[in-house]
Amino acid sequence: MKINFNTLDRQYFKYKNEYDNAYLNTMESGNYILGNQVIQFEKEFASFIGCEECVGVNSGLDALILAIKSLDIGKGDEVIVPANTYIATILAITENHATPIFVEPDQYYNIDVEKIEEKITQKTKAILVVHLYGQACNMKKIKEICIKNNLYLVEDCAQAHMANYDNKMTGSFGDIGCFSFYPTKNLGAFGDGGAITTNNFEISEKVRMLRNYGSKHKYQNDMTGMNSRLDELQAALLTVKLKHLKELINERQNIANYYLNHINNKLIVLPLIQSKNNHVWHLFVIRCKQRDKLQKYLEINGIQTAIHYPIPPHLAKCYKRLGYKVGDLPITEQFSSEILSLPLFNGMKQEEIKFVVETINKFKEI
Ligand SMILES: *Cc1c(COP(=O)(O)O)cnc(C)c1O
Repeated sequence: MKINFNTLDRQYFKYKNEYDNAYLNTMESGNYILGNQVIQFEKEFASFIGCEECVGVNSGLDALILAIKSLDIGKGDEVIVPANTYIATILAITENHATPIFVEPDQYYNIDVEKIEEKITQKTKAILVVHLYGQACNMKKIKEICIKNNLYLVEDCAQAHMANYDNKMTGSFGDIGCFSFYPTKNLGAFGDGGAITTNNFEISEKVRMLRNYGSKHKYQNDMTGMNSRLDELQAALLTVKLKHLKELINERQNIANYYLNHINNKLIVLPLIQSKNNHVWHLFVIRCKQRDKLQKYLEINGIQTAIHYPIPPHLAKCYKRLGYKVGDLPITEQFSSEILSLPLFNGMKQEEIKFVVETINKFKEI
């Protein structure tokens, strides 16, 4: 058997007729940029998340960059951020010329809330949390810290569509929620896409301008913006998928539960779920001291896996100037050497899920 880390065409074929209709309608409408499809999707996604406003943009990274920019965070400002994240989270800070202040992860791989306050200084403007792998951070504690210290709260929800904490959707806790619709994400488009969610009309208006050259009325430019629009086709396809998101997440949760209940190899550390959380399993991440050997063993047996992420941002070549060295963030670094993401995707067949479990359970120490 050969199992890829992802097999994206299966989630297309699942609702093919609906996608094809949406595609054809948009093609025939003659309107391809900022038309009714984007308006419709923004409305439906805002209501799905439980926010007043949603603004569609070109990617998750752009959503994050524009979120930080719309809060006027820039040179000389500090943003507290988890060290264990994808580099895009950090790029959003440095592209705005602000400084990322890294915090180590807890046992759920999310920002350790006990280690945030010691990092707050006069320069701290915001906490940018990441609901990593599809599990919400401890939002009660993080909200308290933000209120107490008068900090903005931005959520990176790129991996956490429909994840919730205490029955409240991620993306609705902070000043701004940032989403990616990259094809592999839980709500994935068929190309690039992203969005911000907010209850603050001033922020949504600002992002609406910033995504469109900084202009509200054509050829009147009040700010220096960029071109970062969600296009009509992606919006139409996303509206179709959003209707099925609950079902799609359910399927992911069933696969994850099967893994949790059946993987019983003592060499493997399984993911933990924090109380009050509804985990949506963007990624199923295990840990193993002999990670590289496990990955090779699975590869030989036809199972493709991935590492999210092999190099933590503070050790990335592009951030040499920040001055971090190996050993500065030991928990993050240890995780990055032990983590492995197993295949988990919509349309995964029962025999494939079983094969992954059986193969992992047969892995032995070498
Ligand atoms: C995917 C991802 C992003 C970036 O989203 P793009 O749409 O690929 O730009 C940002 N943050 C996290 C945590 C992600 O997983």
